Amino acid sequence: MRSSYRSGMALGALWMAAVLLPAPAGPFDGLVPVAAAAPVGLPAPRAGETDRRERLARILIAADARSRRPAAGEESPADPGPYGVVDADVGRTRGEKAGLEGRLAKARSDLHGMAEASIRSGHCTPVDLDGLQGETEGDQGSAGTPAVSSGGWTRPLLSYELTARFGSAGGRWSNGHTGQDFAVPIGTPVRAVGAGTVASIGCGGPFGISMVLRHDSGWYSQYAHLSAPIVPQGRRVRAGEWIGLSGTTGNSTGPHLHLEIRRTAEFGSAVDPVGWLRARGVDL
Ligand SMILES: [Zn+2]
Repeated sequence: MRSSYRSGMALGALWMAAVLLPAPAGPFDGLVPVAAAAPVGLPAPRAGETDRRERLARILIAADARSRRPAAGEESPADPGPYGVVDADVGRTRGEKAGLEGRLAKARSDLHGMAEASIRSGHCTPVDLDGLQGETEGDQGSAGTPAVSSGGWTRPLLSYELTARFGSAGGRWSNGHTGQDFAVPIGTPVRAVGAGTVASIGCGGPFGISMVLRHDSGWYSQYAHLSAPIVPQGRRVRAGEWIGLSGTTGNSTGPHLHLEIRRTAEFGSAVDPVGWLRARGVDL
């Protein structure tokens, strides 16, 4: 008890130092910049918050990967995966499983709270998950690898439930629904439907945290209600590459991804994502 209390004090002191020490000169509004990850001119969140968000993201991504493993057999203690601490709990007593579910629910709630805070601050900076996609999907083999069509297109999520369709009517949409909704838990990795470049990251408004990709063919795709971006504006992405974590920010009644396919970068130029992807060899 005493040593953990001491280390808690030490962490607290570090955090206080990070907050209280004068920040280096630069366009950072007195906040502590994070090394190369932050684009010039964008203030980064406090270092402690950044670390906490990354930790939550990793816990939720591990849970997502685990949820898609083949049903045959429980987790083997000999193969705990890259997230041994969390995985080791699975397949033990029901009480421990309930405890794990409770921790995941808390992680999702905390990540959402941080997303809302980032919108309030106006700084929706990407979460740094350096190399995690390769690590996670390498571990699962083909089950975790999205199928890419011969034309280079893929699904934005590996597992999901389709909910509101393009064009559907409802109180939330004045002129019909402009995208396709996918119900997924907060913190699920969202993938680029095709190769392209990050055209913009939205931070607030009806779409919450959102991202628009410009594809090489001239089409655009938009991913809305995210809890965090993963890649920064201007970054080149591959089909299937993680670009953000799903969430429920903005005008959203529950955790889901809203996907739009657009003729231009702007709202109002959308077509039905289901038919558009089907024409490119991807069935949702
Ligand atoms: Zn929607």
